Amino acid sequence: MSNADAAKSPYPWRMDDLVSLCARRGFIFPSSEIYGGINGFWDYGPLGVELKNNLKALWWQRVVRERDDVEGLDSSIICHPRTWEASGHVEHFSDPMVDCRACKKRFRADQLDDAGPCPAREGTSEHDFTEVRRFNLMLKTFIGASEDAAAVAYLRAETCQSIFTDFRRVKDTSRQKIPFGIAQIGKAFRNEINPRNFTFRSREFEQAELEFFIHPSEREKWFAHWLDERQRFHRELGFTADRLRIRAHAPDELAHYAKAAADIEFLFPFGWQEIEGVHDRGDWDLRRHTEYSGKDLSVTDEETKERFTPMVIETSVGIDRTALALLVHGYEEQTLPDGETRTLLRLHPALAPIKVAVLPLSKKLAEPAQKLALELRRRFTTFYDESGNIGRRYRRQDEVGTPFCVTYDFESGTDGKVTVRERDAMAQDRISLEGVQAYLRDRLEVVL
Ligand code: ATP
Repeated sequence: MSNADAAKSPYPWRMDDLVSLCARRGFIFPSSEIYGGINGFWDYGPLGVELKNNLKALWWQRVVRERDDVEGLDSSIICHPRTWEASGHVEHFSDPMVDCRACKKRFRADQLDDAGPCPAREGTSEHDFTEVRRFNLMLKTFIGASEDAAAVAYLRAETCQSIFTDFRRVKDTSRQKIPFGIAQIGKAFRNEINPRNFTFRSREFEQAELEFFIHPSEREKWFAHWLDERQRFHRELGFTADRLRIRAHAPDELAHYAKAAADIEFLFPFGWQEIEGVHDRGDWDLRRHTEYSGKDLSVTDEETKERFTPMVIETSVGIDRTALALLVHGYEEQTLPDGETRTLLRLHPALAPIKVAVLPLSKKLAEPAQKLALELRRRFTTFYDESGNIGRRYRRQDEVGTPFCVTYDFESGTDGKVTVRERDAMAQDRISLEGVQAYLRDRLEVVL
């Protein structure tokens, strides 16, 4: 984060604090850390993978399972290279790039405000930039034994192209009619010139995309519908209205084939940034794949017998960016009435990596407490912790967003009750051991 970014941050903590929490507690840390990391690649540890899986499950639930007009797909990451010629990526998917002749660093020509001073020149801190060149962001690889041009393939730059190439197969096998959609969650790869802002701009990331196929006369209606649905989803994650906004693209920002587009933006410590795009892509994709493959991807309306190429409304959300937004939104350094501070992650219970921690007040109570943890684990992600004083153990759970702690104390054996402590208000309830499951279920299974 540059100094200018830090100055305008609406958050009373530094991005570095969150980054260090993520590493310290095993949410997210640099890939291949023991070799010094690799720029633009990140690993999600035991808590991070739970957070991400919960987020993906919620998206899948809302976009695919709860609707009868959306089908799921899990396509291969590498597909026929012609796909990327048809989509326009081979020709156009590039960013403007400059190099500094002095310090040898490479920058995005449209992001030079963030370049900082040149460390390598004498008498000036200005960089010595080359001419602007285009740099294709697709990552290349080779298939088979020979590394010649014929063997070139690409790691997909977006997940949606296979949705278009599989359109007919999915439509026919699922017996869907227009309007309907195909959804997919998966990895995408972009050789970003300047990966930065933690996971926000990575070279390997996950997208959750929906392509919704419609009759050309219904573009406005479905665009509005999906923009609305997707906003609702982000509000459901717990993002408050002051942290979320819609930014409609101006006509000169639109891709040449697009009719309308809007970004859903979140207020990060480094400013308002896109976490999701909702796009009216017209019939560009299906037409191009028809042209390049020679396979007709148009459809016939059974009632009117009209033959047409469906138009597409796309919703494309970054799982990593949304997970980062959740961490940013939930992170808080709170001063308690006794003057102590606690670090807190206010994650929605449905997204929290650990739902409940079972804490015996003393190691002597380990046996019955472990028995309780074992029962709860069959239903909720449960963490058992018997080490350290109880206050410290609560703080450790607050810091990773665990919504409930169940404390087994010296009374529990006789009165058959345990104390349930809630993360945000730190309110405590004394409830019967048999009632713990139902108590947690009522509070945790609100969303899913
Ligand atoms: P940007 O302008 O920030 O590079 P984009 O407009 O190219 O993003 P899209 O191609 O619309 O992004 O991709 C859809 C979503 O995929 C984005 O809203 C974002 O959440 C995610 N995404 C795109 N690029 C990256 C990246 N380099 N790292 C992490 N997530 C990304």
